[in-house]
Amino acid sequence: MPKTSARLEVFTESVIRGTTRLANKHGAINLSQGFPDFDPPEELLLAAERAARHGPHQYAVTWGAPNFRKALAAKQSRHMGIPLDPDENIVVTCGSTEAMMVAMMTACDPGDKVAVFSPFYENYAADAILSGAEPIYVPLRPPDFTFDPEELERAFRRGAKALVLCNPSNPSGKVFTREEVSAIARLAEKYDAYVITDEVYEHIVYAPHEHHYIASLPGMFERTICCGSLSKTYAVTGWRLGYVLASPAVIRAARKVHDFLTVGAAAPLQEAAVTALELPDVYYRDLRTKYTALRDRFLGYLDKAGLTYSRPQGAYYVLVDINALGWKDDTAFSEWLIREIGVAGVPGSSFFREPVRHLIRFHFAKKPETLDAAGERLLRLRKG
Ligand code: GLN
Repeated sequence: MPKTSARLEVFTESVIRGTTRLANKHGAINLSQGFPDFDPPEELLLAAERAARHGPHQYAVTWGAPNFRKALAAKQSRHMGIPLDPDENIVVTCGSTEAMMVAMMTACDPGDKVAVFSPFYENYAADAILSGAEPIYVPLRPPDFTFDPEELERAFRRGAKALVLCNPSNPSGKVFTREEVSAIARLAEKYDAYVITDEVYEHIVYAPHEHHYIASLPGMFERTICCGSLSKTYAVTGWRLGYVLASPAVIRAARKVHDFLTVGAAAPLQEAAVTALELPDVYYRDLRTKYTALRDRFLGYLDKAGLTYSRPQGAYYVLVDINALGWKDDTAFSEWLIREIGVAGVPGSSFFREPVRHLIRFHFAKKPETLDAAGERLLRLRKG
């Protein structure tokens, strides 16, 4: 039998998605793969019903239905504080997963290097490798998950053509400060590199932290390829609606990648999602309040169970230390937790370049009652 592609040999299938399958098999409460168990906003469900009945049911414009792009440009302009042209600055994709792949293939040629902060969401390394690029890792150091500007500069000196910036960050929950974002921007300018952002958690930020869009800094729009999604903001991870925002020159290139990868995102769902994009700003304020309460509720259980963790500043994940529980291997712990305690979390090692085996990532985008049920089970980990 002919050999399959050699580039697929250097990474595994997603550990996150694998953990979800294991959780389902054992009927565990799934705090591994990050997706809500609550419904999208009611207006959105009604809009989806209308779209099911009245269409469109055929292909939308490849790079996004005009009304969806118009609504997205208006919403993102308002939040990012920069003008966005629906016809020049947007490609609508199948989730930010496709957006990231499109961004990577748009920015990089085979043989190029891409800087990736570690810990990182596992898709980035795979995206780089599938594009023929080589990831260079720059550590984010606990407890604040800050980076050393010297180390980042070294990655650019080694020739990184792009940096992947996940902000707010999965899995660490870090929100990069204005100073950090500015320092990254200065280096990207100095070394004439792209910044590929994953900003799917832009609206899930906990006070007093604030999200700073690197694309909005002076001079940065031209070199930022901003990837986003409706998945987390409107609790529609299964709709697979994401997008790339960038300069017209980048978008012209990105459209080609997108067109040949997927042709387009689901037309009826783009139609329905216009309703979400037009929600008033109070929606985003309420979202923060809701997630702050969910975070605090879940952290309360971790405290009660005597577990140590890094306090999330944004996104909806928390990295929990399992060393004190006497476990040396996160994968074995995760399997045990699923089988014996009935809660699923992702082994932290899947997010780190460094040999880190003492962390488990839980997410808390779940109904309060789901978090209570999981929390009660986690209390069984309490020592003594
Ligand atoms: N971003 C989510 C996570 O980190 C899930 C993404 C996915 O599986 N597509 O768990």
